[in-house]
Amino acid sequence: MARPRILVVGAGFAGVECVRRLERRLTPEEAEISLVAPTSYQLYLPLLPQVASGVLTPQSIAVSLRRSSRHRTRIVPGGVIGVDPEAKVCVIRTITGEVTDRAYDHLVLAPGSITRTFDIPGLTEHARGMKTLAEAAYLRDHVIAQLDLADASQDEAERAARLCFVVVGGGYAGTETAACLQRLTHHAVKRYPRLDEREISWHLVDLAPRLMPELGESLGRAALDILRRRGIEVSLGVSVAKAGAEEVTLTDGRVLPCRTLIWTAGVAASPLIATLDKETERGRLVVTPQLTVPGASGVFALGDAAAVPDLAGGKEGAICPPTAQHAQRQGRTVADNLIATLRGQPLRPYVHKDLGLVVDLGGTDAVSKPLGIPLRGLPAQAVARGYHWSALRTNVAKTRVMTNWLLNAMAGDDFVRTGFQRARPPALRDFEYTDTYLTPAEVRAHTASLRASAG
Ligand SMILES: Cc1cc2nc3c(=O)[nH]c(=O)nc-3n(C[C@H](O)[C@H](O)[C@H](O)COP(=O)(O)OP(=O)(O)OC[C@H]3O[C@@H](n4cnc5c(N)ncnc54)[C@H](O)[C@@H]3O)c2cc1C
Repeated sequence: MARPRILVVGAGFAGVECVRRLERRLTPEEAEISLVAPTSYQLYLPLLPQVASGVLTPQSIAVSLRRSSRHRTRIVPGGVIGVDPEAKVCVIRTITGEVTDRAYDHLVLAPGSITRTFDIPGLTEHARGMKTLAEAAYLRDHVIAQLDLADASQDEAERAARLCFVVVGGGYAGTETAACLQRLTHHAVKRYPRLDEREISWHLVDLAPRLMPELGESLGRAALDILRRRGIEVSLGVSVAKAGAEEVTLTDGRVLPCRTLIWTAGVAASPLIATLDKETERGRLVVTPQLTVPGASGVFALGDAAAVPDLAGGKEGAICPPTAQHAQRQGRTVADNLIATLRGQPLRPYVHKDLGLVVDLGGTDAVSKPLGIPLRGLPAQAVARGYHWSALRTNVAKTRVMTNWLLNAMAGDDFVRTGFQRARPPALRDFEYTDTYLTPAEVRAHTASLRASAG
């Protein structure tokens, strides 16, 4: 008898956790497992700002999917561009651009999220995100290039614009990115005799009245104090009205001449979710507490792409925040529920009480709230790094990260510009491939044509 086909979409926190558990708990005879992934690694996103600032090398947070010969999951290199839940088929664009199809009996949807953008003129052309490894590596090169170019320029206005950096988004991603990169420029400028540190300006802006509200009033204020002490100008209740190649206009009317706009103002579910034509909540696919998708037989969804009921949060109708902490644990629940489905056993609901937040602001600056305990400074930094280090999946990744941290602590930052930049500066839309997806009607037409040619 043919083995049931399990297809997992997305090799992030949720997808990889699910696949590894399935491999451990199912015998090869019980199911065939495939994983569609555009890259051959799982990206440890929370440490991305440290790649941008050069504390960690890109390879250290790219955890290989193929490292161990124990793993038997078939990896399909590419991205799913449409799902037809009625026909039980995924349409895949492989990394060579070829469009293929894959039928499944059980589907696990974990494609994560993309940077959330708004209808702001010039945003997708001129802003840079912090969501992929390429973006972080690019941003590092770009920031160092601005120092080089400012140093080389004789034009006062150009120098000022190149030394002005704007980060939008006061959540943990934006705050960490601004803090880590400011620290980089602070150290780097000493190696540029023609530049004065006072010429460099960093701006962090957010529409919300507070930074990282999930930290609570006092820790949020502590983070704000650290940033302001470092000279970062934090503007709350403000966003971007217009973005251009050489300036950013804020909603309070200020026009900042600058060549660097970093956009980290939240995430939106992967556009893949819209191709299913099923119910969504704020763009995330609605799922049951058992993480199944209503009206789509055999489909589970989880992580940033799914609106998972937060049963432990205590608030009626709440959904889990898009964090790695939840995504990874949901991966385990989906694996268990999929195995229960195959074995005809009852499914269990996903319940996880949030463990708190850690925010690494570079050096010994940090704030964290593990299990509700507010920490700052060195203890917060130890908790933040200890948490991330222990969450890395492989010993090789753990060793790389620890070695990088020790090296950075002893030898300090380095300011190498690798020169990988393209002539036309790539922006948000160049990194996240958001225009590759089919519409629900196109997916159905595609699978109908498959059926016709098979018949
Ligand atoms: C800068 C930054 C800092 C963060 N810090 C923290 C933190 O400190 N703590 C925390 O808990 N969370 C943090 N997060 C959030 C956390 O990283 C996400 O919530 C988590 O990665 C979500 O896991 P996921 O598996 O749903 O998605 P991801 O981990 O993003 O994985 C999705 C995977 O799917 C792949 N994919 C996308 N589209 C397709 C497709 N069409 N077909 C096939 N594959 C596809 C992607 O390439 C990716 O590999 C941070 C995020 C960022 C960006």
